[in-house]
Amino acid sequence: MTKLSVVVPCYNEEAVIDAFDTEIRKVLDSLPVEYEVCYVDDGSRDGTLGKLRAIAAEHGERTRYVSFSRNFGKEAGMLAGLRETTGDAVVIMDADLQHPPELIATMLDYYRQGHDQIIARRTREGDKKVRSALSRLYYRGVNRWVDVELTDGVGDFRMLSRPAVDALLSLPEYNRFSKGLFSWIGFDTVHFDYRNAQREAGETKWKFGSLLNYAMDGLISFNNRPLRVGIWIGASLVALTALYAVWITVNAITNGVDAPGYVTLVAIIVGLGGVQMVMLGLIGEYIGRIYYETKRRPHFLVKESHGADRPLPRDPA
Ligand code: UDP
Ligand code: MG
Repeated sequence: MTKLSVVVPCYNEEAVIDAFDTEIRKVLDSLPVEYEVCYVDDGSRDGTLGKLRAIAAEHGERTRYVSFSRNFGKEAGMLAGLRETTGDAVVIMDADLQHPPELIATMLDYYRQGHDQIIARRTREGDKKVRSALSRLYYRGVNRWVDVELTDGVGDFRMLSRPAVDALLSLPEYNRFSKGLFSWIGFDTVHFDYRNAQREAGETKWKFGSLLNYAMDGLISFNNRPLRVGIWIGASLVALTALYAVWITVNAITNGVDAPGYVTLVAIIVGLGGVQMVMLGLIGEYIGRIYYETKRRPHFLVKESHGADRPLPRDPA
């Protein structure tokens, strides 16, 4: 019998975690599978951990949880959860019931057909207009840049086969941009759509600023093509300047010297200064990433766990 593991990163989900647990078990009990639910408490400041302890006390066998020493972010949460899993197939889902548990049945069908990554893609119904327009634009832009294909509406809600999970776990990088990593590992992938649901309770952890930063991560996490752009901008500017110089010289010879252009000058200096700052920042980003990678810090620290019959999840050396 197939064993299914469900990974659920939770950060301050006190308000919804019980409802989630009830729902998920209802669905899992109705499926012809063995299962375990692996919660990761990402350093919540509310009663989430207490609720997880209670859930584990009630459903000990089929529940695991790890609790972080502080908030390490959803990426770290998913990583810890994936390391905890023992199932043949793993589902990653949010605790806020925005990922309808009943879709697991559909995923399981696809899994039995032999697919390795079964991705539920949400429609953007009910999202703020601006947010969905911006994300569409972003995905259109980002796909020209990164080596992997990122799809709008595709989040972390998906089922992965054991080989796909093991592949993900074998990627040791510190900066984990999962959307990209999922796509990078490849394997036999299918998408299906579901209707967007609103959060059941509690509130979203995404502020506009963190979305912008996330967008930047997507651009920078995969290759050094943005640095290439810097080279091209520089080279084009040099070429333009050379042409301009020729034109000025010819003009001065034929029409005599004439030197207006204060505004032009200021504009050019400021504009170029801007380009340089952007490029410096970009280089800094890459160097910063190298800096973090070289420290080889763990992705997270665990302060408490339940059901971890293996040694506490640790980073590959
Ligand atoms: N989450 C987490 N750590 C964080 C932020 C979020 O584990 O630092 C979890 C959160 O508890 C939820 C999931 O990630 O289960 C998605 O978060 P949220 O619903 O806030 O994001 P949204 O659905 O608005 O994109
Ligand atoms: Mg949500």
